[in-house]
Amino acid sequence: MRYISTRGNAPVLDFEGATLAGLAADGGLYVPESWPTMTRDQIAALAGLDYVETAVRVMAPFVTPSLSEDDLRALCTLAYGRFAHRAVTPLTQLDHDQWLLELFHGPTLAFKDVALQLVGLLFERFLTGSTEPLTVIGATSGDTGSAAIDALAGRAGVDIFMLHPHGRVSDVQRRQMTTVLAPNVHNIAIEGDFDTAQALVKAMFRDPAFAGRFRLSAVNSINWARLMAQVVYYFYAAVRLGAPERAVAFSVPTGNFGDVFAGYVASRMGLPIERLVVATNVNDILHRALSSGDYSCGTVTPTVTPSMDIQVSSNFERLLFDLNGRDGAALAMQMAGFESTRAMRLTNAQSEGASGLFTSMAVDEVDMAAAMRWAHDGADQILDPHTAIGLAAALAHKGDAPMVTLATAHPAKFGDAVERVTGVRPALPVRVGDLFDREERFDVLPATFDAVTDFIAGRAQPRG
Ligand SMILES: *Cc1c(COP(=O)(O)O)cnc(C)c1O
Repeated sequence: MRYISTRGNAPVLDFEGATLAGLAADGGLYVPESWPTMTRDQIAALAGLDYVETAVRVMAPFVTPSLSEDDLRALCTLAYGRFAHRAVTPLTQLDHDQWLLELFHGPTLAFKDVALQLVGLLFERFLTGSTEPLTVIGATSGDTGSAAIDALAGRAGVDIFMLHPHGRVSDVQRRQMTTVLAPNVHNIAIEGDFDTAQALVKAMFRDPAFAGRFRLSAVNSINWARLMAQVVYYFYAAVRLGAPERAVAFSVPTGNFGDVFAGYVASRMGLPIERLVVATNVNDILHRALSSGDYSCGTVTPTVTPSMDIQVSSNFERLLFDLNGRDGAALAMQMAGFESTRAMRLTNAQSEGASGLFTSMAVDEVDMAAAMRWAHDGADQILDPHTAIGLAAALAHKGDAPMVTLATAHPAKFGDAVERVTGVRPALPVRVGDLFDREERFDVLPATFDAVTDFIAGRAQPRG
């Protein structure tokens, strides 16, 4: 498979190149040149396969020829062997037609492990024998950072620098990052908020003097390999609920539009998906875009679902590209307009194309809490607040297909919010039980370009 940029003006890369590059050189995002499809029979043949084998069948067309099927199987076996549940992403029933897809059985208790455990191994594999070490720089509001650090700790040829807003991530989230003491892991607590940390990272990638000295890469969901790994669980769940004979609907707690875009890819590949419900919290830019074509930034309101507190959803660009005839030049103009005014209108083709598959809903904290109680009272399930937002939107959707809400985090990761609603304090799983006894290591830095780049330059390995 070859990969092209959504803005049409960057080198065409193979899977290895797209994985290591992260963002495209023209500011766009890499997408496959065409969507591979699976026939009804091929989808039916997934029934009964375990998660790793499903992953190999779904991802093989995207990774060839960079990886053979056997290589892919070996990496998936390692990545998903670290999950605490044998099914990797098990389904739980809530009601006669409501289901949860539990994506939080990985090492850091959020769905980001499903993708990043594999991406960490892909980086290591593609860097073997290379003399140029990779410098991964990212900003996190919590879940991405811990998942990326766990996946990259101790991997040869990679240094990771993760910026988090000092004092503004939960204790569990911070400790999941700062107690990883591998020498290639560098935690930076920025004296500022998440947007400030994110802006610093973007500035580093854009600064030719800094970016030229290191081989920089990104692990946020602009990385194609992450989205690809997330396509697998849509197939895995839908086949268990009757696909391809029966269509299935999914409700996805959404921030950067990565997870739900993976559902779109599954649909393009031939999986019968009745609906993709895009569930946002009160930070509802995506709901406004999908319901009225208005994609415009406001200010971010902090909520109990911090992983969905976003202004701009980077991956939405991939959908806009695909729905607008894959016209990179047109999209580059549309995005340039957005970047200068912080607002844009979807074209008719984009709005109409999206409405065939997507429904959206913004969920406030009252409805989130009601959904959390509904699952607790009627199915004895404790949900994290992000998942509860997804469930609230799922319950509001009217349709005939079985509805699967993606459970994106373990409730213990957001224990305070869960306890306030249900009165129950979810216990941390045994496998992370000693988190609060481990030694922490991180550096606190002022939110300035010079402070952060000096710190990184003093520790990262320069280009060969
Ligand atoms: C990252 C995250 C989300 C949002 O996922 P996107 O791919 O950014 O839309 C939702 N819930 C949790 C718990 C997360 O960590």
